[in-house]
Amino acid sequence: MIVVPLGIASATPTITRHLPSVALWREGSIFLFDAGENAQMRLLQAGLKRSKIDTIFISHLDIDHISGLVGLLATFQLQRREKSLRFVGPKGLKEYIEWHIQFSKLEVGYALDFIELDEGFEHAVVVDEEEYTVEARPLKHSIFCIGYRFEEKDKPGKVDADKASELGITEDEQFKALKAGETITLADGTQVKPHDIVGHPRPGDSFAYITDTEYCPEAVKLATNANILYHEATFGENLEDKAAMNGHSTASDAARVATEAQAKLLVIGHFSARYTNPFVLLKEAREKFFPTWLATELRPIFTDPAHEKGIVQAKVVLKELNDKDDKKSYSKGPHKGKSGFRPRKKRMGEDRGQRLDGGSYRSRGGYDGPKRDDSRSDRGGSMDRSQSSGSREHKPITPRPRYDDYDRF
Ligand SMILES: [Zn+2]
Repeated sequence: MIVVPLGIASATPTITRHLPSVALWREGSIFLFDAGENAQMRLLQAGLKRSKIDTIFISHLDIDHISGLVGLLATFQLQRREKSLRFVGPKGLKEYIEWHIQFSKLEVGYALDFIELDEGFEHAVVVDEEEYTVEARPLKHSIFCIGYRFEEKDKPGKVDADKASELGITEDEQFKALKAGETITLADGTQVKPHDIVGHPRPGDSFAYITDTEYCPEAVKLATNANILYHEATFGENLEDKAAMNGHSTASDAARVATEAQAKLLVIGHFSARYTNPFVLLKEAREKFFPTWLATELRPIFTDPAHEKGIVQAKVVLKELNDKDDKKSYSKGPHKGKSGFRPRKKRMGEDRGQRLDGGSYRSRGGYDGPKRDDSRSDRGGSMDRSQSSGSREHKPITPRPRYDDYDRF
């Protein structure tokens, strides 16, 4: 399976981040998790065919998570889609879509199937196909919100080809029967049992999509042993009160879920617009759960890189979308080949992880503690800070209320 983040902003898109949407590619089909504005353009740019969308899972009905749906439906109509399209989401999703279809007089020539979940449900298997299932659980947000887990069923074990030819098994039908767990009889009367040539079943891959929620046990259940856990990290720890107030997670909350669930990889996204440099959030998450990555729009994440690499390739240059703040690209910068992190910026700002107590993260090293009086700035042990800060002394932080609207959803 391949996970491709299409939009990693929270409620407000920025010049480098789009509204929330994540695509999951599996065996040629695409499953979309939320569809923020621009989701269909990002699919194209990611090198994913919109016509391959099988099911759209919606976490909740805040507009930033569904504003891309109607445009996508219109495109399907222009593409003369015939295959039915399945939606899974909270109650009200059907009404929202049908109202838009009616109002804009879209002539949808393909069937729309809805699976709606109502507030108060505890657990549901919303999709059960031959090769995979999807389960849903309620999360803890300011409005009814659903988390999903996409899981492949166990795959049959690998066939030992050498042993098979030794035993004289040549027919496709014989292989098929053995893989299905049946005992076969060869022409000479020899009986071959499945375990003679077929190995143990291999566990399927799994992907959990958890966004717009505070920490909750349901999230841990959905993410248990997941290969890839995509979890929101709207805020840093310095804004944990704000996170709790708005029903969101901090990077540290996401790491807690990943740790308790023993996920294999945590990918954090859904960043508040205030974090122009989300590496602050990555640092915070990695302190608690090291195998954490920052979601990068259009950059695919593979459950099996050996087989999946090259299947999904972005049609745009990713560097252009991500390097807005850096004149020098970090791939060309002084850190090339070292950490892969872009060089830190020189100016102080909220993107540097300022804290409510007035402290901030230093350009090198960790948090430098609460803001102190200027008169005390010559205290012992502050050598490297006073040398490196120069003209950029700490300024008192004034609250920036204009951001409050950003995190409403
Ligand atoms: Zn959101």
